[in-house]
Amino acid sequence: MWKKGWREQMWPQLDQVWDLIIIGGGITGAGILREAANAGLKVLLVEANDFSSGTSSRSSKLIHGGLRYMRNLQFGVTFEAVRERQWMLKAASQLVTPLEFVIPNYKVSPIPDWQLGIGMLIYDAMATQWKHKQYSTAEIKQLFPELKKEGLSTGFRYLDSEVDDSRLVLRVILEAVEAGGVALNYARVDNLLRDSRGQVNGVVVRDTSMPNGGVQSVEAGVVINATGPWTDEIRTHIDAPERMRRTRGSHLIFEHSRFPIKHGFTLVHPDDHRMMFALPWEGVSIIGTTDVDEDPAHSGQEPFASEEEIVYILRALNDTFPQFELEHADILSTYAGIRPIISSGSVINPSKESRKHGIWEEKGLLTITGGKMTTFHVMACDVLNRASRRLPGRLSFPTEKPVFAALPADLPEVSLDKATLAYLLGRYGAVTPEMLSAAQQDDLEHIEQFSGVWAEVRWSARNEGVIHLDDLLLRRTRLGLLLPNGAQGHLSRIRKIAQPELGWDDDRWEQEVSRYADIWKHHYSPNPSK
Ligand code: FAD
Repeated sequence: MWKKGWREQMWPQLDQVWDLIIIGGGITGAGILREAANAGLKVLLVEANDFSSGTSSRSSKLIHGGLRYMRNLQFGVTFEAVRERQWMLKAASQLVTPLEFVIPNYKVSPIPDWQLGIGMLIYDAMATQWKHKQYSTAEIKQLFPELKKEGLSTGFRYLDSEVDDSRLVLRVILEAVEAGGVALNYARVDNLLRDSRGQVNGVVVRDTSMPNGGVQSVEAGVVINATGPWTDEIRTHIDAPERMRRTRGSHLIFEHSRFPIKHGFTLVHPDDHRMMFALPWEGVSIIGTTDVDEDPAHSGQEPFASEEEIVYILRALNDTFPQFELEHADILSTYAGIRPIISSGSVINPSKESRKHGIWEEKGLLTITGGKMTTFHVMACDVLNRASRRLPGRLSFPTEKPVFAALPADLPEVSLDKATLAYLLGRYGAVTPEMLSAAQQDDLEHIEQFSGVWAEVRWSARNEGVIHLDDLLLRRTRLGLLLPNGAQGHLSRIRKIAQPELGWDDDRWEQEVSRYADIWKHHYSPNPSK
């Protein structure tokens, strides 16, 4: 937890020699911080904006093996991810939850039914489970009336899982901090320090939480670059050549009543046969994603879903679920993220680039990139094992300590149902009892029809390192994605709870509201734009 005043206390303490500095507070950096803290290392993570504000809050929300990769014959990637999914379903239960998927197959599909059947078999075999099932044409038409019936040949049920991606990052970081790690958001690395041999031995970090924030040089035995899509930008400080291919993926969100699906669906786009997902998530329905090369000119800017991507996704949606007749006007919100993909160097379709992670050591700087949210723990251990000869002690990763702290057995007596408590336990982990105890009158009311409660707003504002209103509404809670107009109709209640907790005066509140409205309009609204 970060109590009021934590940044002011932390900033002067940066001036010491750390065992390890991690640049980037997405899931990759979070996982490394957690393992390093478990190993007792003196470790600092610095994030330029908010934790998870990069790709790690804008994923398809799946902890999955990735059927798509098998189609590209990347069986190793799928196998590793399936193993990690199985582990997380246990280790992070309630946060990572099972989700039944249905994959319909049409007569025009480029994948014959028998091939899909073999794919399902392999997918289950990788997890040593038998959860898939094939439906006859009659069964699939009857069981899933929302699907287009014309040309429907067969369908399969299979099991994957979903997550609140941003809360996953937060939980991993907060539990690492509890174990002795240090993490600062709004702390941008502007440059790298080098020793007399030209080897990287630290960073120059700038406080971006305020205009004209301080700048400090901080030294470390090892520096790890975990900046995802911004990997190459850090590497320019050591004149390393570009290696990344940044591709954008966008999603559309609909109110569940307008796009009422109970299962996840894997669908194939009618024009280019790319695999896409539609899933129920946190009380809404999400569909995505696209895979287009991001314009390098936009590298410093927040991504957003382009008009073409929105049309492309709507086309797939209406082709597979024609009865809902969804239009642009039905969209509740949108979001886009940039994939950190290691370029193969050839001009292939971006969806065919491998999702395998890579590690490079250049002038002492360790870089880890690529991979998936699902494989964050494997990635963390791989890079730390590469770093271990430069770290104190003869460390080997993973350590024996758990990545996710155990959930508390006892909770205070509160008037919340089991499902809500499970939801909160997944997101707040070991501190759920404190979070519930901190709730004031009315805080335990549900936010509209969602699983979340108002107590989350209070807890996050008080304890979770919120610097801006968008941190609170887009990443600590997901109200900006779930509620109409980015939750701006609920700002008076949010203000009543959050403003005193954050200690903001009225001027600051108004500035934050205007900043938030601008971010939401340009990057998360149904009509995002530059
Ligand atoms: P990021 O989350 O982008 O974090 C990097 C961080 O570095 C950023 O927060 C950034 O602000 C920070 N940074 C950059 N420069 C600096 C600097 N100079 N100083 C300090 N900090 C800096 N994976 C799955 O497993 N399941 C999915 O369902 C899934 N869906 C996806 C859907 C889409 C559309 C996309 C784009 C990806 C998806 N992925 C999915 C992949 C997964 O989301 C990413 O692999 C993962 O989030 C990358 O995490 P990261 O920490 O490496 O990068």
